[in-house]
Amino acid sequence: MNASLQPHILDLAGYVPGEQPQGGGFIKLNTNENPYPPSPRVISALADAIGDRLRLYPDPLATEFRRAAADLHGVSPDMIMAGNGSDDILTILTRAFVGVGEIAAYPTPSYLLYSTLIRIQDGREHVVPFSADWKLRPADVARAGLKLVYLANPNSPSGTALSRGEVADLAAALPCPLVVDEAYGDFADEHAIPLVRDFPNVIVTRTFSKGYSLAGIRLGYLIARPEIVEQLVKVKDSYNCDALSLVAGTAALRDQDYHDRMRDRVVATRSRLTAALRKMGYSVPDSQANFVWATGGPPAEPTFARLKERKILVRLMKYEGMEPGLRISIGTDAEIDRLLEVWNETA
Ligand SMILES: *Cc1c(COP(=O)(O)O)cnc(C)c1O
Repeated sequence: MNASLQPHILDLAGYVPGEQPQGGGFIKLNTNENPYPPSPRVISALADAIGDRLRLYPDPLATEFRRAAADLHGVSPDMIMAGNGSDDILTILTRAFVGVGEIAAYPTPSYLLYSTLIRIQDGREHVVPFSADWKLRPADVARAGLKLVYLANPNSPSGTALSRGEVADLAAALPCPLVVDEAYGDFADEHAIPLVRDFPNVIVTRTFSKGYSLAGIRLGYLIARPEIVEQLVKVKDSYNCDALSLVAGTAALRDQDYHDRMRDRVVATRSRLTAALRKMGYSVPDSQANFVWATGGPPAEPTFARLKERKILVRLMKYEGMEPGLRISIGTDAEIDRLLEVWNETA
């Protein structure tokens, strides 16, 4: 059987998502889920949607959902496309833009899925290191023949973000689409959606997994020029979003009050955790996301193991040419108090 497999698939290591422990009792700060529940309006919209209508296929074009997203961002619904999580959106974009042997770029250290997606296409990677202060020089990213650029902004694992002006400078320098992956845009001071008007190559992706507490639902979307959306719709699965996820996402978008209140709580806890880790001697960049990135203190691996032993799960990240670091999702205040207590006890 393996002899029939494409060699580049056989060579692929495969993306490894963060651990989802099956046993209970963990304080889970490793995959950037939101520590707060989804909006009560989401729960009641889902309850109303469960019934006879589930016999029918969902709306393949997610019309009502797109209208809600368009209203929120002040764009037209034909600039929105929904996906089964933003990972599905990233897959659709890669399939649409990157062919065999063609080049796509992404910065490092960043979201590791971009590499996997390019390799599935048998494309070639142009990997651009961030500078020490987490910036990118557009001239280092741009090159002839480039077909797609991915930019997680805010970035993971650093939590840092390029300003809207810096994203615009990058878009202007590129001969291809720039995918601004705003999975953490809900927690950031700025976002790139206004750039879609002036830069036809800017495509912004969003998810419900982090800012809307709906990682279990699998829903994301992109904002791009209508002529791009029209082409991408041909690449996606007809029914890539199920009826329940669309109902949940629509209700979540329409409850911005709740969204903003939960964001403010996460952002307040983020400041507190950043200050505490810095006091313990770690180097922690100012985060624009719902996690922080700690390096430069006591070695990360034993710390990770000690925390795990005490049932606290953070993310140990190893990137080539860098010392390992710890990426810590922002939990509730009680969870972060407990993290700091255990960390200080076992240090
Ligand atoms: C979490 C994350 C995603 C994936 O979001 P889903 O909508 O859950 O698929 C995409 N990009 C980045 C940078 C992420 O951290």
